[in-house]
Order: sequence, then structure tokens, then C-alpha cells
Amino acid sequence: MNWHTSPTDAILNELQSNMDGLPDDEAAKRIQQYGPNQLQEKKKRPAWMLFAMQFKDVMILILMVAAIVSGFVGDVKDAIVILIIIIINAVVGFVQEFRAEKAIDALKELSAALVRVRRNKQVKQIPATEVVPGDIVLFEAGDMVGADVRIVESHALKIEEASLTGESQAVDKSPRALQDEEAPLGDRTNMAYKSTLVTAGNGTGIVVATGMETEIGKIAGMLQEKEPATPLQQRLADFSKKLSFVVLGICVVLYGIGIFLRGQDPLNMLLTTISLAVAAIPEALPAVITIALALGAKKLVRKNALIRKLPAVETLGSVTYICTDKTGTLTQNQMTVQEIWQVEKFNLAIPGISTNQALLLLMSLNHDAQKDHTDNNKRKGDPTEVALVQYALQQEAYDDKWEQAFPREQELPFDSDRKLMTTVHKANDQFLVVTKGALESILKICKNADAEPITARSNQLAETGQRVIAYSCKLVQQLPKEEDQTVLESDQDFCGLAGMIDPPRPEARQAIAACRTAGIVPVLITGDHPVTAGAIARDMGILKSRDDRTVTGAELAKFSDEDLDNNITHIKVYARVSPQQKLRIVKALQKKEQFVAMTGDGVNDAPALKRANIGVAMGITGTDVSKEAADMILLDDNFATIVKAVEEGRRIYDNIRKFIRYVLACNFAEILTIFMAPVVGLPIPLLPIHILWINLVTDSLPGLALAGEKADTHIMQRPPRNPGEGIFSQGLGFYTIWVGVLMAAVTLIMQAWAIHVGDAHWQTMVFTVLCFSQMAQAQVSRSEYEYIYRMGIFTNRPLVGAIALTTILQIAIIYLPVLNRIFNTAPLTITELGFSVLVSAITFHAVELEKFLKRRSGKVN
Ligand code: ATP
Repeated sequence: MNWHTSPTDAILNELQSNMDGLPDDEAAKRIQQYGPNQLQEKKKRPAWMLFAMQFKDVMILILMVAAIVSGFVGDVKDAIVILIIIIINAVVGFVQEFRAEKAIDALKELSAALVRVRRNKQVKQIPATEVVPGDIVLFEAGDMVGADVRIVESHALKIEEASLTGESQAVDKSPRALQDEEAPLGDRTNMAYKSTLVTAGNGTGIVVATGMETEIGKIAGMLQEKEPATPLQQRLADFSKKLSFVVLGICVVLYGIGIFLRGQDPLNMLLTTISLAVAAIPEALPAVITIALALGAKKLVRKNALIRKLPAVETLGSVTYICTDKTGTLTQNQMTVQEIWQVEKFNLAIPGISTNQALLLLMSLNHDAQKDHTDNNKRKGDPTEVALVQYALQQEAYDDKWEQAFPREQELPFDSDRKLMTTVHKANDQFLVVTKGALESILKICKNADAEPITARSNQLAETGQRVIAYSCKLVQQLPKEEDQTVLESDQDFCGLAGMIDPPRPEARQAIAACRTAGIVPVLITGDHPVTAGAIARDMGILKSRDDRTVTGAELAKFSDEDLDNNITHIKVYARVSPQQKLRIVKALQKKEQFVAMTGDGVNDAPALKRANIGVAMGITGTDVSKEAADMILLDDNFATIVKAVEEGRRIYDNIRKFIRYVLACNFAEILTIFMAPVVGLPIPLLPIHILWINLVTDSLPGLALAGEKADTHIMQRPPRNPGEGIFSQGLGFYTIWVGVLMAAVTLIMQAWAIHVGDAHWQTMVFTVLCFSQMAQAQVSRSEYEYIYRMGIFTNRPLVGAIALTTILQIAIIYLPVLNRIFNTAPLTITELGFSVLVSAITFHAVELEKFLKRRSGKVN
């Protein structure tokens, strides 16, 4: 059947449905028949492939080939051990990546969309995947259309279909049947397609196709986007590449020295140098970062922050400005009308409506709230709307016959640009047009209103933090053919005001104080009146010093870009702004090198959310459009959650840094030890299997345990991290060098001494010292500033476990005869073991001493 040319009755017939919606059992049957309404994911990489990917590194492949060759010509046992270590390494890598993938999948599932359908005469929200052909769906501005739909009803409906047609201009939609059977998708104005966005108005439609049968399903696959690498990952990947060349250069020189100066066996030397290359190139770092970020994102969900784009976890820690909405974010979004005020002796000129009923009538007619089926006196929906109707319902002067006496004929839904909402009702043989909205907007559409006393009255309410809604109306003889804004929203009579309170969230005040100590500037951007906004901002601590300013949208519009640049750091409250101006604010802040988190919930907030460094959408009240554009969704709509997320972002970034410091210093120590030994006339200290073993046990478990480290106590008392800073900034490069040199130096001195006194176990001692020093380094890397003794050695349990396990394994390698044979080690005497432990502790104490010096020099408090 051709959906867009057929009349809606025929379509309902064809799909065996009706406007009351499908019965539940029929819907259940259809989901069996048609399958879930989802696009098939591109085939996932199977687990074996993920495992195979662990071997894609060229150096690993060369090492495997070299090991196999050496197995054939020489030592089979060594070759087998090398291969086993490589496989264990791959298993560890596989398990980590698998976990990360699972964590990312779980996040995706959480952000799945909901759709409003009418079933069994009742409107309810269901997951988009459960929608079936024949369902009646309802959508409004901000929603993402859940399936392909033939529109049957619409009010000022506009849909943006860029994801399907590439056209970013929203298209007007209406139910009218079309003539042209071949009309291209973009011209089918009575159809709405899955994954397109409703930008204005509202509508109802019949689902005609779901899942892969939808138009978007037919081109699916284009939608599969790959997670982009985070800035840090990109930098690390670049760095790893450069480092590989350096390491390979060192290995070539080492190979030459080994063969020509020390007369080593060429094949053995080849294995040694390649093992060293594998151990020293931190090829796993970018993957470990993904894991740390994915696990961090999982943790953030528990704190009610859902991450949509992984790089956001990394960049959260750099936020310098949080631009936030007011309603619901700083306040509880639990509105209660406190008082109303009506123009004296206001006469509606409708028989049966007395003067003291006029405003109440308007309040009870113009709203978007739904009846609650369980309680006749209750309404559901947007809190502002609910508060206003419910107030009217509870007054004595309210008459419950009004609803039937004044049926709704037309409506212009609320939008934050007009800041108005209009409904038209039949009133006997005339029509009553009722508009409510922001006072300034209402005054603009009223004739003869005396603005001064009305504004004074409104300001009185606003000064106590109340949100003020104004009402106006007119009677017309004829309905315009279609909802026409210029006709309806003009020439009205001003009627009155309603003031409502919305209590602040108790935790928001604290969160704002926390922002300040963390060097983050909180800014309020609201559609509300400047007086209301100012009262709340002062109460919350956003407006604090004398220099802090409030600017209205109208003033902002008059600012030149230069004016804005000069003032922006002083403006803490933007009131009565339109969503488009949010974009201008973000851009101006970014010009000042600020890193901006911006909240938004409406359709028009999407550009600002996209542009912000961290776009934050509201999980409860936010539209699908804003969620699509955001990097992070607040599941509880709460400002305090943003601050918690920033703290968590800082912790995760800190931990990634700890991990990088640790791995790079260890790797540097390994390469230096092995390279310098022949240079200073010592034998090459370790066998390939030793090198690979140390690499395996140091990089995997202790490294991951560092990623789980708790936040430093001062984490929210220091300024945000500069997002442009390189990997080696803040002393990381210096640390890598000095700790690497120290670890290598103590190892080599011990090797020289042991050889000098004729200790036959020198190689096992060197092996043990390198392994233990790295464990000690893992402990000490847990904080850049805090002493481990103060933090408590046992406070990072996974790390303690990793170190204990590694130590037990190392002891087994030293003392178990089987392992002695495999690893070419020898049992150490108690003195030798004790001595090795003491030498290993040197690095630990040296780093603690560095912390002491840093603290003394006042770099930290
Ligand atoms: P906040 O920052 O408080 O969340 P906002 O940016 O969401 O505010 P809007 O919801 O755009 O602000 O509201 C702007 C103004 O429009 C309000 O101050 C109020 O005067 C008016 N308004 C809000 N909701 C409605 C509504 N449902 N009908 C009519 N007018 C409304």
C-alpha cells in the first residue's frame, strides 16, 4: 500500500487498527510477528577476533617468529615459554577489552529512547523497540520519531529529517493525503520517519513500518559511527609511534654491541632485543585508556551521569565554566502557585462567568496537563502546567462544567522563543483565545494594557524568587482556518498574573560552593525573568561579589561581540535568553579559552549543547533532540550531579596519568638497564623470558589497579586541568626520566657488585630487583603528592592483591625447581633475597622523598 497517497481510514483498515490504539494482546502478537523495532547492529566483532587482534602488533609477530625459529635451531623450552607468555599477555588484553566493550554496550542500552503510544484508549510510554505496525503514536517538539508513521493529526508540526534526507531545514507536516505516488521522501509531508526529529508542534500518527523495514532501516549501517579517539589517546598513539622508532634504534645498537663487543649468539641476541622492544613500547596504553574511560563511565552512571560520548569522561576534568538552567537543575521543579493577581474588575464578556472567575477560567483552560486516571482532581505533565491548572481546580470559584462548556478547538504549543502558549475554545457562538506566558511577551500581544503597575506587581512576586506567568485573552467571531500565530496572538486583553515557587534543591547550594573551590565558575542561563533569576542566583551563591552581573537576553542582543568579550567574565546570570543566545555565550566563553559545560533540555538548545565542550542534557525533562546532541545526560536532572561528574572525571584522568607515569618509568628503567649493562662492561643482565615476564606482570594487573585508585583528597581544591596540556606536562616527563634512571642505576650497581664478589646468582637477583622495584613503584604511584604511609599501604585492595600475586609468583620462580628450569633462575639465599628487597625499596623511598620536597617547595599544600 502506498502510505502517503492513501486516506488515513484506508491505512487504519489495512493495518487493522483504529485511533483508540491496539489492544495489548494484539500488540504482543505483532511484536512476535514483526520483531523488535530496532535497527540491526553491524555485525559485532566475534570474541575470537577480538582475541586475534591482540597479536596484530608487528613486534609481537616478529617475536613469535623469532621464538619459533630459535626453538627449531636451539632451545625449544625457551621458545615455548616465550610463546606462553605472549599468549597470557593476549588473554589479559582480551579480557580487558571485552570488559570495556561490555561497559560501553551497557551505556548504549541505558540511553535507549521511549515513545508515547495510545493502546487500549490510554496513552503510555513504552521503549521504542516495542512499537509495532498499527500502533498509534504521539509526538511533540523535541521527540525523536520512533518508527515510520503516517500522520493523522498535527498542530504546527515541523520535523527535521537531516538524518534521512540530508536536509537540515525542518519540513512542515500535516495529515493531508498527497497525489504523487513517486514523491521523494523529502516531499512526503504527511509521513514522519524513524530517527527524525520533531522541532515544533505536535502530532499523532499510525505506525506503518518498524525496525529494518523503515526508511532509515533500509540505509542502516550508515548510522554506525565509530567512537572517536580521545585527545589523550591520540596524543599517546602519536607518542607511542615516535617512541617505537627510538626503541627500535636502541635495539639495533644493542644488537650490534651484544654481538661485536660481547660476542653473544646472534639468534639469542635477536630474541633479547625484540623482547626488549615488545616490553618497552607502550603499545597497550591507548587501549588501557579506553578501558579506564569505559569503566569510569560505568561508575558515573551509578552517580546518575550517563556518558554518551566516551571522550567526555576524559575532558570533564578540564571544565572551567558550568552554564546551567534553573528549573529542575538548581530547583526541584515542583511548582506550587502561591498567589494570583487579576486586573481589577476584569470582564470576560461571557455570560455566566463572573469577574472573580475570569482568571481561574483561563488557568483551567489553557494548559497542557493530562488528567490522572486514578484521581479526577489531579493532573500530570509539565510541573508549571500542572501547578497552574491544579491551583484553579482547587478554588471555590472553579466550576467543573467549564471543561465541557469550552471545548478546545486549536492550540499553539509553548516554545521558549515565543515564551507563549495559546489555546482557542468554543464559547457559545464565539471563540475564546487564551494565551499565557512570560509577562513581556504577553504585554506585547495586548492592546491598551497599563504596563507599569502590572510590571511592578510582577516584580514584587519575582523578588521573592517566584516564577511569574501572565494571562491574556480575547473573543473572536471566527476561527482562522489553521492555527495562525499572528491572528491569534495579537489584540488581546491583559487579565492577570500567577506567581509560583519552586524550592531550590538542597544539594545545589553545596555543589555551587564546591565549584568555586575547584576553580569552576557557575553561571545561570534561564528563560525566566531577571528578577526571579537574580533572587535565586543570590540565594544559591551564584551571584556573590559586587562585580557579578545579570544580563537579559534583550541586552545581550544589543551587545557587540567586543562588548560581550569585555564583559563575559563578569556576567553570572543571563535571564530571558532565547536558546539561540546560549550558543553565542558558549562561543564567547570558548574564545576566552574557557572549557564550557552547558545544560539544556529543549529542541533549540541542541546547537549550544553540540558546541559546548561538554553538552549536558536532562534525563527526565530533556527532549530526545537535546539528548542526541549531548555528551552527557543527567539521569536526575540535578546540578550537583554535574559537579560529581567533574570530580569523577578529574579522578579518572589523574589515574590515567598515574598509570602512564608508572608504565613509562618502568619501561624506561628496563631499557636503560639492559642497554647500559654492556656499555659499562657488564654482561646483558636478563634473558628474553625475564624481560617478557616483567613486562607481563608489571603492565597488566598493577596498572589496572591504579585506574581504580580513589580520588586525591584535594582533587576539588585545585584549578581545572588545561585541556591543551601534553602528556608530559606537570612533571610527568621529568618523573619518567629520574625514576627510570634511578631504578636502572640501583639494578646495575647491584649487578656489578654481585659479579664483583663472585655471586653466581647475580642474574636471578637482577631479575628479582627489577620486578620488585616495579611493584614498589606501583604503590608509590598511587598519588603524586600524598605519602603512601599516610594513605595506607592496604587501601587500594586490587593493587595489594596484584602485588601479592606477583610477589608469590616471583618467589615461586626463584624457589620452585620446575620454574628454576623454565626461567633459568636459581634459589637465592636469605641474605641475597633480603638484599634484593632492600635495593628494590630504594625507588619507593626516593619517590616519597620527592613528594616531601614538592610539598616543602610549596607546590602543593
Ligand atoms: P529555566 O532556566 O527556569 O529552566 P527555561 O529556560 O526553561 O527556564 P522556559 O521554560 O523557556 O525557561 O520559560 C521561559 C518563560 O516562559 C518562563 O519564565 C515563563 O514566563 C514562560 N513559560 C514557561 N513555561 C510556560 C508554559 N508552559 N506556558 C506558558 N509560558 C511558559
